[in-house]
Amino acid sequence: MLRYVFAPVHPAFAHSLGVPLTLTELAGSGQDLTAANPRGVAITFDDGPHPVGTPAMLEVLARHGARATFFVIGEQVVKRPQLLQRIQAEGHAIALHGYHHRLHLRRSAVELADDFTRGLAAIEDAVGSSARLHRPPFGIYSRASLQIARDRGLQPLLWSTWGKDWRKFTTSERIAGRAVGGIQAADVILLHDADFYSAKRSHERTAQALELMLARLESAGLGTFLCG
Ligand SMILES: [Zn+2]
Repeated sequence: MLRYVFAPVHPAFAHSLGVPLTLTELAGSGQDLTAANPRGVAITFDDGPHPVGTPAMLEVLARHGARATFFVIGEQVVKRPQLLQRIQAEGHAIALHGYHHRLHLRRSAVELADDFTRGLAAIEDAVGSSARLHRPPFGIYSRASLQIARDRGLQPLLWSTWGKDWRKFTTSERIAGRAVGGIQAADVILLHDADFYSAKRSHERTAQALELMLARLESAGLGTFLCG
């Protein structure tokens, strides 16, 4: 029986449950985004807001006039709601990654429902509007959590390319190369603007990689746009 969805390893699992990995698939699930910019990709950041990492990403994005979607963690949002307000004020989208950053598979439906409730409330309290997109910690839904996300009106979105920027031993060049080396229109790029759940200070390499990636996207004629 299909117990979970781990898109990067088993994209067919995600597809069989209708969980999008790319902007084209996301548009097919009701949100018509790629029509507005068929040469666009989406940059997404998980795990923030972080007092150092998030502002670092915002500064690089602003220099390049790029847009991104931030999948935030409620327990971090309640500590620094003003950072969420800044993300929104600078024209980026806010989406839900969870209240706690815990794997869904071994959590009860009651615990999961509470996590969604608290995560959504943290975002609403900080910026006065609701998240529309959701991505689970580690990219792994349980059957229960996927159902809860949909019951709450959240659109699941995973990703189609990543920099593996959470690793302890990597470089900004490797992160950028992995994330955009084979980039195509409609790809969804996964990065992290925080080191709460990954190698310490990993966001410093991610910020440097973001600079390289945006330059490469610009030379490839690929714009960045929101998906939330
Ligand atoms: Zn995460």
